[in-house]
Amino acid sequence: MDEMPARDDDPSPSDPGSSAPGPRTDRTRIRRHADRAVPEKIEEFLRASLIAHVACVEDGEPRVIPFLYHYEAGHLYIHGSPGNATLRLLREGRSVAVAVTRLVDLLASKTASFHSANYQSVIVYGHGRQITDMAEKRRILDAMTARYFPGRQTLVDYEPATDEDLTRMELTDIQIDEASAKMREGDPGGPHDSDPDFPGSAFAKPV
Ligand SMILES: Cc1cc2nc3c(=O)[nH]c(=O)nc-3n(C[C@H](O)[C@H](O)[C@H](O)COP(=O)(O)OP(=O)(O)OC[C@H]3O[C@@H](n4cnc5c(N)ncnc54)[C@H](O)[C@@H]3O)c2cc1C
Repeated sequence: MDEMPARDDDPSPSDPGSSAPGPRTDRTRIRRHADRAVPEKIEEFLRASLIAHVACVEDGEPRVIPFLYHYEAGHLYIHGSPGNATLRLLREGRSVAVAVTRLVDLLASKTASFHSANYQSVIVYGHGRQITDMAEKRRILDAMTARYFPGRQTLVDYEPATDEDLTRMELTDIQIDEASAKMREGDPGGPHDSDPDFPGSAFAKPV
């Protein structure tokens, strides 16, 4: 796959005056294909993607779980049952790593090792805060519903959550400590892909 060639140059650091999440330490420095680092797109990708894979360590063992999520101004919000292990660990102050990925195209190449993909990807490191204030909970859950279902309206398309519904559901604010974004775009990058006389086929297949 075309991620293999090593590029060790640093990505541009995020604007230190911005409140948007960005690289802060060496753990968010993109090493392979540093030219694909796009720290200025972190928020755009977090607003546009649909699934967050939330990973943490419990008793020395890694665990990862997919969640729907909502992003606002340096915060990722996830929700679920209070018995959910990931939410419990966040409630206890455990830090997490979160992967948010959009697969854009699959890339076929005339060269085996250059089959690849166009993607938009964000990695977030953060820590949790359980939201207990009912008004805050309601606002964020409504915003999350509106993000996944633009145009649907409370009282028109669905009845609002009751206080009891909100109490039964745990909502967690993952405050982003630092984040990085990486993307690949463009045509297949094999050495013969733009040579019409070379046998084989090369193309981008949108997903
Ligand atoms: C696209 C998507 C979006 C989701 N969004 C939400 C959400 O917003 N809120 C929410 O609470 N849940 C969501 N889920 C379900 C979520 O992934 C968990 O299954 C759920 O939170 C219950 O976890 P648990 O407490 O049973 O599992 P845990 O106790 O956290 O996990 C125990 C084990 O169960 C297995 N397991 C748990 N979940 C999955 C899974 N999804 N796939 C395969 N194996 C699994 C794993 O082996 C895991 O180690 C989503 C799932 C998907 C696929």
